[in-house]
Amino acid sequence: MSRIELKPDYYDDFHCIGGSCSFTCCQEWKIAVDKGTKKKWRSIKAPKYLKETGRLPEGISEHSYLNQFVVKADGSDVIGLLNNMKCPFLDEDNLCSLVKEHGEEILSHTCHTFPRETHIYDDRVERALVSCCPEIIDRWNGCTKLSFTNLDYTNKDYLRSTKDKLKSVRDLMMYHLSSHETTNCTNLLKAFFILLDIYKKDGDFNIEDYLDDISVMNLVKSIEALENAPLDSLIERNELFIDMTENYAREDRYTGILKPLRDIASELEPDAAPCTDFNNALQPFENLLRNFLVSETFSNLLIPGMDLKDMVMQFQWMMMEYAIIIDALYLRWLSDSKHTLSYDSVREIIVLISRLTGYDADDIEEYLNDCFESPLWDFSYAYFLLCL
Ligand code: SF4
Repeated sequence: MSRIELKPDYYDDFHCIGGSCSFTCCQEWKIAVDKGTKKKWRSIKAPKYLKETGRLPEGISEHSYLNQFVVKADGSDVIGLLNNMKCPFLDEDNLCSLVKEHGEEILSHTCHTFPRETHIYDDRVERALVSCCPEIIDRWNGCTKLSFTNLDYTNKDYLRSTKDKLKSVRDLMMYHLSSHETTNCTNLLKAFFILLDIYKKDGDFNIEDYLDDISVMNLVKSIEALENAPLDSLIERNELFIDMTENYAREDRYTGILKPLRDIASELEPDAAPCTDFNNALQPFENLLRNFLVSETFSNLLIPGMDLKDMVMQFQWMMMEYAIIIDALYLRWLSDSKHTLSYDSVREIIVLISRLTGYDADDIEEYLNDCFESPLWDFSYAYFLLCL
């Protein structure tokens, strides 16, 4: 059966910029090595000049085979990083010495494909580029609306014609998150309310109910009329930021960025600075963050094998990711003597938090089970979390 291909319009243009990258993926991260690659590496010697350039990990000789550079982290095979948290194969020009010596084919699946993700269904292949790479954030910045090949998610007729129920829910979420008429937080809450409604109906829904402009406008009005407590919400987001970054801080990963933010976070007073001033500083990035949410929904909300409950949990995870990004931006803004936010800061924080929250579906369920009364939230908690 031939499959149609769905992908963002910038997908084919993407190229890793390697040595010029502002936030390389070859540092601090856990770089997975798949079984096939580890086996292949058993017969390939380490690249030259590791010893001369101080990039030979402890206990490994310059004559070692590549599989000896693989260590266990959280039960998985990963490349053992040097004490400076860099991949030993990253050379002084920030280029991969494995690729230089042997070509792309030598890389593990993760290094070869990152930041691309592919999901294969019976009728289609979905190709995405994820937010853990600063080059992708650059594509979204300044772009009014993300466009996709074979996915006209802002067109109601396209949404009405989709037969696959779960895909139809995912595309409907993209439609609501892309709205320019309301803020990103309101878009998230509107979409979450609809998703919970669909879940309560066990997926037996009529899409017209969620496309009708008057009903949607009434939903938005109801959300905007809810009582809020922005400072309590700020404290909640801040606690999530501290919790989510705890393990990375303990392992000394991303210390240069995380430590100053965590220092402020741990002493944050509820009346530290008015949220309204921060909201004004955040405003120029509203469109970039909207594109981020649309892209995250495309790549993460639906993965082959998922059911509707998984989609609800995945959506909650995305709201948490967004809340933590907002908190980290708030902390960065507080730390700036002039209380400003630059594009470079926003890009760095989006990439960082995307990397820290890049859990798989089982880990997300475990986290939600451990940290909340129920893995499925009430709407009121989502509102509390996202109130700015
Ligand atoms: S983060 Fe993106 S641009 Fe940077 S080195 Fe990795 S793939 Fe290349």
